[in-house]
Amino acid sequence: MSIEKDICLECPYCDEAIHRSLSWFKQTYFTCPACEQGLSAAQFAGIVDEIEEELDAQIEEMIQGSGEKKSGCCGGRSSCCK
Ligand SMILES: [Zn+2]
Repeated sequence: MSIEKDICLECPYCDEAIHRSLSWFKQTYFTCPACEQGLSAAQFAGIVDEIEEELDAQIEEMIQGSGEKKSGCCGGRSSCCK
């Protein structure tokens, strides 16, 4: 599952916070909107991976209805969970 999510990362050149979608930071080549220095996905790969993992975990939690682990497919809210 992929959700288009806006994230905020700092430009390594000017330290300006860049607010863009996750996929924007995964482009092969792009420029910082603040200082217009060339940036590449490789410069953000580590942090972007981390954020993606976090988002995946959040999505899992949303699907499960809450962060708590409950038994059954729906947390026992409907009769399919016995
Ligand atoms: Zn910059």
